[in-house]
Amino acid sequence: MASKKFRNKTCAYCGVPGASATGDHVFAREFFLVRHRANLPQVPACASCNSEKSRLETYLLQIMPLGANHPEAQETIQTLMPKRAAHRANKVLHDVIDNSRETVWLTVQTGQQHERIPVYLDADRLRSWCGLVGRGLAFFHWGVVTPDYKVEAIPLAPKVEHDILAMARRYKGGEYAEGSVGNGAFAYRGFKCADGEPASIWMINMYGRMPIGGDPAVSRVCANSFGVFITPRGHHEVAW
Ligand SMILES: [Zn+2]
Repeated sequence: MASKKFRNKTCAYCGVPGASATGDHVFAREFFLVRHRANLPQVPACASCNSEKSRLETYLLQIMPLGANHPEAQETIQTLMPKRAAHRANKVLHDVIDNSRETVWLTVQTGQQHERIPVYLDADRLRSWCGLVGRGLAFFHWGVVTPDYKVEAIPLAPKVEHDILAMARRYKGGEYAEGSVGNGAFAYRGFKCADGEPASIWMINMYGRMPIGGDPAVSRVCANSFGVFITPRGHHEVAW
């Protein structure tokens, strides 16, 4: 089978040696149009991490394309989502469609205001998924597993995104990775510490820098990318 190269390896997500059962697409194939699914990054995953991640993806796939800017997402909505919505188990999508009547104004990175139809999604599930993606990318690019490190995933305000990039430009000795998948639908940049320290920071944007807001009734600024910080627990400080 094609996945043999991913069997009995270290799981990229939980880091258990020899535990992998399958290859997992760091970004699930279903996020992208069929014709843009070639060469997606894949990592070894154990059965339990693989199924936890795919549960999160099943949920996010029902909602995320609706909030997107990228043409890929528009086509996904038109071609793939009706099939998903038709599935009787797909109550989440029905709720989204039935409850998306109001509009809100969001301030995008350029300072312009845009009227949008808000799509509500479970922030914890999005954060958990982004954290797994960060771990998967660290493994894919650098073969790094950090099961005992903490992973924090947060939407990056434009200022913070800018500061991280400025820091990265000054930063010497570490490693840098970037990628764009699904015809540019998702893109990421990652920075890893120098000197064998596996801590890393990832900036991930989805569906053409899909705007991510807090409570749209209060939030005036929205984020366009997610930051994933994989750092040691406790007092061990990392020098970036
Ligand atoms: Zn695992």
